[in-house]
Amino acid sequence: MTDWDLRRLGEFGLIERLRRGAGEPRGWQRGIGDDAAVLRPRAGCDLVTTVDALVEDVHFRWSTTDARSLGHKALAVNLSDIAAMGARPRGFLLSLCLPADAKAEQLRGLARGLFAEARAASCPLVGGDTTAGPVWTLSITALGEVRRGGALLRSGARPGDRILVTGELGGAALGLELLESGRGRSRDARAHVRRQLRPVARLRAGARLGASGFVSAAIDVSDGLVQDLGHVLRASGVGAVVDVERLPLPRGLRALCARRGLDPLELALAGGEDYELLFCVSPRAPAPDVLARRLECRVTEIGVIAPGRALRLTHGDEAFPRLLRGFDHFKPSRRRSEK
Ligand code: ADP
Ligand code: MG
Repeated sequence: MTDWDLRRLGEFGLIERLRRGAGEPRGWQRGIGDDAAVLRPRAGCDLVTTVDALVEDVHFRWSTTDARSLGHKALAVNLSDIAAMGARPRGFLLSLCLPADAKAEQLRGLARGLFAEARAASCPLVGGDTTAGPVWTLSITALGEVRRGGALLRSGARPGDRILVTGELGGAALGLELLESGRGRSRDARAHVRRQLRPVARLRAGARLGASGFVSAAIDVSDGLVQDLGHVLRASGVGAVVDVERLPLPRGLRALCARRGLDPLELALAGGEDYELLFCVSPRAPAPDVLARRLECRVTEIGVIAPGRALRLTHGDEAFPRLLRGFDHFKPSRRRSEK
């Protein structure tokens, strides 16, 4: 991948570059090059599809991200939705809107990040659209497969179900804060900044949860735990009790928060962009440590589904006074300059 000079390549030269970068899509009848791509779904499977856009100066800034991370993240956020459905990725389409002054190094980096992530997830690029426009916009449509009727929905949680979450919460939001305040380069910032710039979709965990048979509802935590759990509660017509003392925080987060005057629980509850999986299981499902071994990642039980409609936060045995909301593009209730 040498020359990514947009003026020299033109639209069709760029598409050709992408086609070469993508390689032959395994399992597809047709990939890039026809009017549409052709996939023959496997017998006994449902097709799962999702789309997510990253818009310059809304979701990312060139001053705080590099092109490679951007390519990685554009795909990862979509793969996270596929994982949350309990599905396995099969391929993706890329709608690319580029300003005329897009630089070769930006395009090269973007392609590197995108294709590295695509290979790691066995999720080939099979098509897309390319246009010029005022700001960078990467819109990715991902396709996945799940056992027929086996997709994990938001609507199946029942009172008594246990609520669990993979990995850790709050790190990505702290990473954003550090980047935006110009402190992203310090050594103790690194892990959090990485979570913000290069989130990892929980593909293996999602597919295993999909096959497990005991998950009643699932969602990925993209807009903050409170908001995303709220979606599950509304869709399922239930309430929940969550103990904030149990929230899995990344190592070093509390100390950094203390120094920067930030509230670690606010980051974990409302921060967003962690791309962990939140899932509900029947009371008789395996214990968290057994689940952690099966999913090959940290798993923490944080609460329980309750009758009613309310989300109640507790701090150990006491009520937790604040109910924090996550991110909403059209209700700017909190300072959040990126997302
Ligand atoms: P049409 O005009 O029929 O929509 P295009 O010229 O836009 O066709 O695209 C030609 C081929 O290149 C199609 O297979 C399309 O999916 C693919 N393509 C276009 N842009 C991209 C892109 N950004 N990434 C991957 N494939 C692309
Ligand atoms: Mg087109």
